[in-house]
Amino acid sequence: MSSVSQTAATPSPSVLLPTYARAPVAFERGEGAWAITADGTRYLDFGAGIAVNALGHAHPHLVEALTAQAGRIWHTSNLYTMPEGERLARRLCEATFADRVFFTNSGAEANEAAIKMARKYHAAKGHPERFRIITFEGAFHGRTLATIAAGGQQKYIDGFGPKVEGFDQVPFDDREALLAAITPETAALMIEPIQGEGGLRSVPPQMLRELRALCDEHGLLLIFDEIQTGVGRTGKFFAHELAGVTPDIMSIAKGIGGGFPMGACLATEEAAAGMTLGSHGTTFGGNPLAMAVGNAVLDVVLAPGFIETVAQTGLRLRQSLAQLKDQHPEVIAEIRGEGLMLGLKLHTPNMDFVAEARAQGLLVVGAGDNVVRLLPPLIIGETEVKEAVARLDRAAQAVEATLKRPAAE
Ligand SMILES: *Cc1c(COP(=O)(O)O)cnc(C)c1O
Repeated sequence: MSSVSQTAATPSPSVLLPTYARAPVAFERGEGAWAITADGTRYLDFGAGIAVNALGHAHPHLVEALTAQAGRIWHTSNLYTMPEGERLARRLCEATFADRVFFTNSGAEANEAAIKMARKYHAAKGHPERFRIITFEGAFHGRTLATIAAGGQQKYIDGFGPKVEGFDQVPFDDREALLAAITPETAALMIEPIQGEGGLRSVPPQMLRELRALCDEHGLLLIFDEIQTGVGRTGKFFAHELAGVTPDIMSIAKGIGGGFPMGACLATEEAAAGMTLGSHGTTFGGNPLAMAVGNAVLDVVLAPGFIETVAQTGLRLRQSLAQLKDQHPEVIAEIRGEGLMLGLKLHTPNMDFVAEARAQGLLVVGAGDNVVRLLPPLIIGETEVKEAVARLDRAAQAVEATLKRPAAE
């Protein structure tokens, strides 16, 4: 220990692993779409904890559900029946293609369950050699050993030993490469309907339909990673509804917990057939606190008209962003995304723009392909849209000023 006394003016250096470049701002509380620091500075939160706080901060219905459950029982383990989990699973099945649900604590774990399920499906049918999964360039599926292999990004794979075997990656939009990658060892295709971390690239609906047809033709399972796109984010309950096709397996997380860590792997009866007694497990997954919050999130998101309002608000925001692009052609190159999962593809460095937006009191998130992501809570209305666009306008002006400075000098 250092013998020098630590004061508020000289905070101790962080002992957290330096795996994140954290902004020098800490939030003490939140109200709806606003995150507030200890000194009372208010930030309009259009990052929502990376698409996690679907209902904003301190939503009264979620606070009530969590605190009521906290006063009853926190954790019992999957050794016992959990009525709130049974109820949440049933509601998810009723609202989707799925017949079976496995709860997890995170997105990566939901994808691990999806990957194991796809492999086990074929093994249980007498084809253990069919274990390979085809994924797409620019994908992000998580940070476990299997999901970094699935995502295929070298910067996440390097240095962590042999890459987990069984993932074949093809270019995003190359049908020939995809067909060539399908072999007698292929078990499944895995894709995000809209790439999140990869830069808000939408898979054209026609391509999702073709992937479905291809899976049916070759006896492959289709896995949709809807961890970021799900639970109303795109103006549909799940993004694949935009294309009118359903997967065999789907991973969800982020929005379903509204800020409480949880995820789930959803599947058809057929796809889940290999996942028999003892084949998979989790200590915390499906814990009563998470289940209470998940049900409370669905109370709001599945209420009549909620998702339709998200779609309308998303359209209005998108129209305003298109105007902003016309006003700042040297900064903004393109508007991407669906619903309230929108992206600004920039000409200038995206992380500089994120910092300028933060200086204007607006939180947004960077993504791959030089994109700035707007992932506001789904509860925003006209006021927040206008305020966000005004702040984005000022951030773009600040970026433009830095472009012009050298010429003016
Ligand atoms: C966030 C995300 C993940 C990983 O979720 P974690 O909870 O961080 O493990 C996986 N896939 C997609 C599409 C995501 O957006």
